[in-house]
Amino acid sequence: MLYQRSSALFKEAQQVIPGGVNSPVRAFNAVGGTPIFAKSAKGAYVYDEDGNRFIDYINSWGPMLLGHAFPPVVEAVIEKTQSGTSFGMPTAIETEIAELAVSMVPNIDKIRFVNSGTEACMSAIRLARGFTKKDKIIKFAGCYHGHSDSFLIAAGSGAVTFGTPNSPGVTQGTAKDTLLARYNDIENVKQLVDANKGEIAAIIIEPVAGNMGCIPPKEGFLEGLRSVCDAHNVLLIFDEVMTGFRLAKGGVQELKSIDADIVCFGKVVGGGLPVGAFAARNEIMNHLAPLGPVYQAGTLSGNPLAMAAGLAMLKAVNNDKGLMNRLEEKTKYLHTGIADALNKNNIVHQINRIGSMISVHFCDDAVVDFESAAKGNNETFKKFFHGMLNKGIYIAPSAFETWFITDALTYQDLNETIAAVEEVAKTL
Ligand code: PMP
Repeated sequence: MLYQRSSALFKEAQQVIPGGVNSPVRAFNAVGGTPIFAKSAKGAYVYDEDGNRFIDYINSWGPMLLGHAFPPVVEAVIEKTQSGTSFGMPTAIETEIAELAVSMVPNIDKIRFVNSGTEACMSAIRLARGFTKKDKIIKFAGCYHGHSDSFLIAAGSGAVTFGTPNSPGVTQGTAKDTLLARYNDIENVKQLVDANKGEIAAIIIEPVAGNMGCIPPKEGFLEGLRSVCDAHNVLLIFDEVMTGFRLAKGGVQELKSIDADIVCFGKVVGGGLPVGAFAARNEIMNHLAPLGPVYQAGTLSGNPLAMAAGLAMLKAVNNDKGLMNRLEEKTKYLHTGIADALNKNNIVHQINRIGSMISVHFCDDAVVDFESAAKGNNETFKKFFHGMLNKGIYIAPSAFETWFITDALTYQDLNETIAAVEEVAKTL
């Protein structure tokens, strides 16, 4: 494949945008080479500026659960645009999407819409601190909750790729209130809680991790967190920015039958427009301004175009009874195909999968936390990534990311992907 125009555009972008990108994971730093500049996308495919077509396994990092340019979303946004793009006043559609979200997700009474997953998580911990009147939070190494200061402590995703899991610019004062635990290790969490008795406001977790590759919770782990939180008056925050409306209509709370105290959303909830949200039961949400003292606001929060896109998306997810099963079946098919292709060529690997999230790790041992994810062979991953890209398959340019499976993928697309893995495996 030729990437001439992408290369030229990247050079130009680097002059005026740091690193040429508006979000670091888009640069190919972890794998080398020049990022591809997208021109358009439809269904399961993304087309670049050079006219190449790729089967897309990133899907805008999650939102495109039903494929790119999903007609109901496109139509809803076009129609909304005609009547004004922002008012800074309440609108009926905000209540409509809130009612639908509250009806789909277990255990929440109220939801507040914001503009990104970062804002959702940042606001959720402020609310948890205001509600519990305690300062410290526990997060897990390798989990990513956006780029607000409290979370850039051993953060996953791009923060690992760029070697700054603990970013400069985060003050000692902020960092000392974030305690770090090992994913899937309940004893470690108990020790931390015991050592900081009466000080912990919340435990925040990706209930299925997607920012160190895909790592599902071990049997009993989330239940363990729930009981620790109950025993110590700590709020359990599920960051469902990736998993919400994806792994089940009601997210991991529904999938694993566990109630969180606060839930964060992003990605799918906005149908591809900049949207995040956080939600909880009344007792907690009523602490938020203007009802309560915890402040949180946004000029463009609940933006009509964003709400129109999100509403069309949630309606489609809610009304499609077979969707979750179809996604699961497609992802399972891909898993089996990739595993067979790699095994045939004696490539040591691990594949983690749950619902429509999947990741391939080139290592011997099971990947259950950040430490085991970090043992993956990055040189092999780089070759794998570029091999796949040159065969028209676009996976995330880092091993510390999950693949997002979309319902727009056909079995022909999956077969094409598996055939590419077979060819690429020979070169690893
Ligand atoms: N939480 C999780 C679990 C995420 O995966 C992400 C983004 N990948 C965020 C929060 C931050 O969301 P945003 O990039 O929209 O700020």
